[in-house]
Amino acid sequence: MKLAVFGNPIEHSLSPNIHMLFAQQTNVEIEYEKILVPLDGFAKTAKTFINQGGIGFNITVPFKVDAFQLADQHSLNAQIAGALNTIKVDGKILIGENTDGIGLVNDLTKNLGIDLRDKTLLVLGAGGATRGILLPLLQQQTKRIMIANRTATKAIQLAKNFKPYGKTCGFGLEKVKHDPVDIIINATSATLDGQMPNIANGVAKNAICYDLMYGQHTPFMHWAQNNNASMVVDGLGMLVEQAAAAFEFWTGRQPNTPTVIQKIMALNA
Ligand code: NDP
Repeated sequence: MKLAVFGNPIEHSLSPNIHMLFAQQTNVEIEYEKILVPLDGFAKTAKTFINQGGIGFNITVPFKVDAFQLADQHSLNAQIAGALNTIKVDGKILIGENTDGIGLVNDLTKNLGIDLRDKTLLVLGAGGATRGILLPLLQQQTKRIMIANRTATKAIQLAKNFKPYGKTCGFGLEKVKHDPVDIIINATSATLDGQMPNIANGVAKNAICYDLMYGQHTPFMHWAQNNNASMVVDGLGMLVEQAAAAFEFWTGRQPNTPTVIQKIMALNA
């Protein structure tokens, strides 16, 4: 099976390591490469890869919306997110999926043992990652999801879009109150600038704080620890779980993720 991950940059990607471990576990023969895609060349690169026998690929920054536009069919989650991280080639049809949300939910519920039912969540950020995680989170019967973003209008609009699926509200970061919540998810890219979204400290007290970023002790994780969070986690488990959902989408085989998370953690240490 010829598989790949498309992105720019792509050198840092751990996806080939993760998928090779899944393939060994499930006895599926795969090749999985990293493809550096020119910024204006997503569709052309995808076509070449498919012509060479590619049967599936992952998509990372900045091509998730291009991938959505390229696919012929979309899952409900992909449709609502308006962005894809996985494409399966089925004859002439490209089927689009977004496994980011199920990856996060599986890490929270299965690996970390967190019951999301009736929980109040605060999601920081209103970009592509937030669009991908909201529906799978709401499907866990959460009590309420508050979306706070630097640009308030984006959070307000997202909350409106997701209202049919559960209780949501949106506002600017400065409106986050000191009142504690159950879970805080950092889905901003502030870490890339070495920053922590500017919010009230009290909200972290006894909260589970989860950063979608992985591979480093981020400013958000540091802030959470300093403000008495009950648990502080990075997004490595989500990375492996979203890959597992993609692997299953392509091959029909379900990998055992905890052992792979341990191995990737060791590789990344
Ligand atoms: P986007 O570029 O689509 O969105 C970025 C978001 O971060 C926006 O809401 C933006 O606010 C906000 N932001 C950026 N800088 C700051 C800052 N200094 N302070 C406050 N807010 C800020 O990125 P994505 O949504 O695609 O990705 C977000 C993060 O999630 C990335 O770090 C990515 O690596 C991670 N991720 C991890 C995955 C995993 O498997 N672990 C999977 C997918 C993503 P504004 O709207 O105001 O610009």
